[in-house]
Amino acid sequence: MKIQLPENVKKIIGSLEAAGFEAYAVGGCVRDSLLGRVPEDWDVTTSAKPEEVKQIFRKTVDTGIAHGTVTVLLREQEGEEEGKLKGYEVTTYRVDGEYKDGRHPETVTFTPSISEDLRRRDFTINAMAYNDRDGLVDCFAGVEDLRAGIIRCVGDADERFSEDALRLLRAVRFGAQLDFTIEEKTEAAVKNHVEALEKVSRERIQAELSKLLCSANPQRVCQLFRLGMASYICPGFDQLYPDSLREVWETKQEKDPHFPMGELPLSKKYLRYGALLCGMEEEQSEKLLRELKLDNDTIKKAAILAKYVFWYIPDDRYELKKVMQKMTPELMRELIAMKRAFAGTANYDIRCYGEDPEALCRHYDEVQRRDEPVYLSDLIIKGSDLLAAGVNPGPHMGEILSAMLEDVLRTPVHNSILYLLSQYVK
Ligand code: ATP
Ligand code: MG
Repeated sequence: MKIQLPENVKKIIGSLEAAGFEAYAVGGCVRDSLLGRVPEDWDVTTSAKPEEVKQIFRKTVDTGIAHGTVTVLLREQEGEEEGKLKGYEVTTYRVDGEYKDGRHPETVTFTPSISEDLRRRDFTINAMAYNDRDGLVDCFAGVEDLRAGIIRCVGDADERFSEDALRLLRAVRFGAQLDFTIEEKTEAAVKNHVEALEKVSRERIQAELSKLLCSANPQRVCQLFRLGMASYICPGFDQLYPDSLREVWETKQEKDPHFPMGELPLSKKYLRYGALLCGMEEEQSEKLLRELKLDNDTIKKAAILAKYVFWYIPDDRYELKKVMQKMTPELMRELIAMKRAFAGTANYDIRCYGEDPEALCRHYDEVQRRDEPVYLSDLIIKGSDLLAAGVNPGPHMGEILSAMLEDVLRTPVHNSILYLLSQYVK
């Protein structure tokens, strides 16, 4: 089996070998290459100690010396980024000591054996190494599991999950990203160890959940519920109803001509969280997403989408514009794409009975095409115009502007200085 290593990775492995050490590309990059996917980053595992790695390469960063990791910086060789420095994590073969906190080993020991290093890794498909000299090193039948589409722990699953509870989430996340099945014993062990998720930080939980939701199979989020993990994700998570999201993916993905076009399939985080929380009140969504330590932009957008996806909008341009005011034009387009995707799912059909996403889409295009006023900033009259017309400063000014906006929402041609001043400023 041959893997096309990037030139820089060949260089790193070659330099380590020339200095008398062993070195291999390892983990995710080997897995993804064998699957014909483009690896995000390339990690190297080596018999050289961190100090030795630092002596061999000119530019390095001490990423995690205690755990054996040094980042080697090399110039990119091709593509747009040409000439820019790119980092490659080079980690010394290691064996993890005892895990006492259910997350991190107390100690790590370096080892001269590649197979020992592979043994500490989480899943068989992540426990393969490759270099051009030796080909694939696959001590735990990772290729077999890769072919069969199986997530299986290296060694005893119960033991592996009790060492590090993050692996519980990683099992579900890789399953979603690769569309793989969690092997029977591994899945049984997941169920046995869900409580250990309490030891995992919210940030790490969120990172895994976000990768799961942004994968090709976000409906796998249902697995967190089925396996009993949901109540450990964050407060309120187990109250969610992920079946709408599942329905969308299962029924629409291939059949609905709009679906691949709509923005929903793009792996934008806020769209995926919006779809997960669909139907929830904005405040409740924000609270839950804040618990997950998401960034403010994702929180705001996802909470708005979650609220409005099951919010009935009548077939009427004025009503549509009232909803448009709650969000940016981009988010509105995404909301309509989402409504199109969700139409036909059980909850949408109940909550939005009679709504026609296609009509909304036409109205939206019409508002855009005619450049109709929607936001306060579209109003031709500003506060300064009111002052110039003799209106006293104060809250009253805001009321006048709001009344004017209401008027032009219904009748866009009323957006003229003469008309508005004559009607609203006495
Ligand atoms: P991706 O980067 O696409 O999420 P990856 O497999 O590269 O996937 P990383 O988190 O980058 O995942 O880890 C690199 C490798 O380190 C893994 O392939 C695995 O061999 C090992 N690894 C990472 N996290 C753990 C863990 N919690 N327990 C055991 N091994 C792990
Ligand atoms: Mg990686």
